[in-house]
Amino acid sequence: MDLLDTLTAKGLRGEVPTREEALAVLATTDDELLDVVAAAGKVRRRWFGRRVKLNYLVNLKSGLCPEDCSYCSQRLGSKAEILKYTWLKPDQAADAARAGVAGGAKRVCLVASGRGPTDRDIDRVTDTMAAIKDADPEVEICVCLGLLSDNQAERLKAAGADAYNHNLNTSESTYGTITKTHTYADRVDTVQKAHGAGLSACSGLIAGMGESDEDLVDVVFALRELGSDSVPVNFLIPFEGTPLAKEWNLTPQRCLRILAMVRFVNPDTEVRIAGGREVHLRTMQPLGLHIANSIFLGDYLTSEGQAGQADLDMIKDAGFEVEGAGEATLPRHRADIAAASSCGTTASGCGTAASACGSGGGCGPCGGHAHDAPEDAPAAPETTEAPDDDELRSDLVKVRRRGAGTELAPNA
Ligand code: SF4
Repeated sequence: MDLLDTLTAKGLRGEVPTREEALAVLATTDDELLDVVAAAGKVRRRWFGRRVKLNYLVNLKSGLCPEDCSYCSQRLGSKAEILKYTWLKPDQAADAARAGVAGGAKRVCLVASGRGPTDRDIDRVTDTMAAIKDADPEVEICVCLGLLSDNQAERLKAAGADAYNHNLNTSESTYGTITKTHTYADRVDTVQKAHGAGLSACSGLIAGMGESDEDLVDVVFALRELGSDSVPVNFLIPFEGTPLAKEWNLTPQRCLRILAMVRFVNPDTEVRIAGGREVHLRTMQPLGLHIANSIFLGDYLTSEGQAGQADLDMIKDAGFEVEGAGEATLPRHRADIAAASSCGTTASGCGTAASACGSGGGCGPCGGHAHDAPEDAPAAPETTEAPDDDELRSDLVKVRRRGAGTELAPNA
C-alpha cells in the first residue's frame, strides 16, 4: 500500500500518521499534488462533509506591541504602515462583528495586540462579548489576547467566551529565532491554561518563515498532542518593514502540501486556512477547501483579504457550503472530548499571543517520495521551488484600510 493509501486509511479511521509519513507528504512532487489533495479530501469529507466554517476577525487593538515576533506587522519596531489604534469600544467591536455574522461567519475572533491582557483588558473584552452576544446569542466567540495569567482564562470562560486562540507558530527548536521576548514554553502554558479553563483551544502555525520540513512536522504534532480543536494554518505575509519582509518561500503547491500534511495529522480537527491565503495560494484557493474545513471571511488583522462575497462565491463554485450556526463543527467524538476536558477530566490543553492571522501571517528530505521510482524511469519532475527574487509578490500584500479602527465599512 503506498503512502497516500495508508494516509487515507488512517485518516478515515481518525488515526494519526507517523512522523515519517507526514514528512513524506511534504516531499511529494508537483506531479503527485492532485493525488495528495484528493487523498486529504477524502479524510476531510469523512469528518466534515462539504461544510466550510467561516470565522471573522475583529482587531480590537492594533499595533503598538512591545513584543518582537519577527513575522508580525504589529511588533516592536515594525515599520509596516499598518493601522494603529487602541482598544475599540464594545459597540464599535460589536458593529464589526455583526457585519461578519451577516456575511455568514459563525465564529467571531476578538484579537488584541500585546504580550498579554491586564485584568482591566479582560473587563473590556467581557463588555465587548456581552455586546456581541446581546445582538446574536448563537455566535461563537474566540478570544486572542496573548499570554494569559492565572485565572484570566476562567474569567473569559465565565464571561461567555467559547474559545481561546494562541498559536505555537513554529517548532520548539526554532522558536527562539523568531521571537526573543517570550518563549515557546510560554505559549504552551497559555494554551494549557485556556484548555484547562474549559475554553476550546485554537492553536496553529505560520509556514514560510524559513523553517524546515522537520520544523513544520514538529509543530503540527505538538498541536495534536496539545489537543487543539482548531488549527489555523497561516502562510507568512512578508510585510515590508518587518524582519521577514524578504521571506517569500512559499508556492501555491507548497501551501497545498502543508495543508494536506496538517490534515493527515489532524484528521478530525478543524483545519483553517488563515492569513496569507490570497497571497500564497492565489488561484489555487479552491483546492485548499478540499483539505481545510474552515477559513476567515473577508479581511485579516492588518491586511486585506479578497472581498467577502468572493469568499462566498468561491465556496459555492467549488461545491462546498457554508456551515450554519446550528451545525456542530467537530465530529461528535471530538466534541465529547472537548466537553470532558472542560470538566477537567483530561489534562491536555491547546490555544496564541496575538494571533498571526494576517498580521504576518504563519527542507529537508524526509524519507522518501510517495512512490518509489524504478531505476530506469525518467527523473521525476522537480517540485516547484520557492520564487526567485524577481518573483517576490509584495504587490499582493495590501495593508488593511477599512473596517475596525476606520470610518469605512468592514469587508464581509
Ligand atoms: S504576534 Fe502578537 S505578541 Fe507578537 S508582536 Fe504581534 S501582536 Fe505582539
